[in-house]
Amino acid sequence: MSRKYFIAGNWKMNKTPEEGKKLASEIASVVSKDAAVDVVVCPSFIALDRVSQAIEGSAVKLGAQNFYPKTNGAYTGESSPEMLREVFAKYVILGHSERREYFGESDSFVNEKVRFSLENLLNPILCIGETLEEREANETLEVVKRQLLGGLEGVDTDGLSNVVVAYEPVWAIGTGKTATPEMAQEVHGSIRSLLTEKYGEAAAEKVRILYGGSMKPSNAPELLAQTDIDGGLIGGASLDSKSFCELIDAARTAS
Ligand code: PEP
Repeated sequence: MSRKYFIAGNWKMNKTPEEGKKLASEIASVVSKDAAVDVVVCPSFIALDRVSQAIEGSAVKLGAQNFYPKTNGAYTGESSPEMLREVFAKYVILGHSERREYFGESDSFVNEKVRFSLENLLNPILCIGETLEEREANETLEVVKRQLLGGLEGVDTDGLSNVVVAYEPVWAIGTGKTATPEMAQEVHGSIRSLLTEKYGEAAAEKVRILYGGSMKPSNAPELLAQTDIDGGLIGGASLDSKSFCELIDAARTAS
C-alpha cells in the first residue's frame, strides 16, 4: 500500500504574524501545486489568517495547533472549529505532549476534541507518545495503545480516514535526541497493528503515521525509509524554510 507522505510543521509559540507570513511564502514558493507530498504548516492562532493568505493558491495546507470543542460561547481565550475553518484551516494538532503536560489534557479530553474535529470538518493530527520514564519502565507500547485507542474512542472507519496519527516520543521532542529508525518502526508497526485490530486492514493501511521528535534533514531519510513511517511532525526544523523544504524533499525522494 503506498501512502502519500505527509510533512507538517508545528510552529508552536514561535513566529509573529509577519514572520509567519514570510516563512509560509518561502515554503509555498518551493512546494509545487501538485505536490507529491502533503505539506501542512501549523502557526499560532494569531498568525493563521496571515499565513493562510500567504499560502493561498499553493499546495501548502493550513493547520491549527488547538481548538476548544464547543461551537461558540463563554470560553475565554479559546477558538472554535468554525473560526479555524473560516481562515481555511484543514488540520488541527490534538493531544500534543506539551498540551498534555502543561495544560493537563487527558485522553478523554483529547478524544472529545478528536470527535468534535471530525464532526466539524477538521482533520485531526492525533499525537501520542511515551515519556522517558515510561520508555525506561518498558511501558512504551502500553502507553501508546492507551493514548491511541483512548483518542479514537467512538471514531468509526469513515472518521479514521480523516485522521493522521503522530508518534512523538516525548523524550525526543525538542531535545535533539531522535528515536533510531528501528525504535520508531517498532512503535509505528504496533500502532498499525492496533488500527488493524480495531478497523480492519484496509482502513488501517491507509492511515498516515508520522514520526515526531527532533526530525531534521540529516536523520529524515532513514526514518522515512521505514515501512510504517509516513512522514513527520516537525517542530524546530519547521521554523526555517531551508530545513523544512529539505524535509519535504526527503519525503519526495522516499516516495
Ligand atoms: C513537536 O513538538 O511536535 C516536535 C516534533 O518538535 P521537535 O521537532 O522540535 O522535536
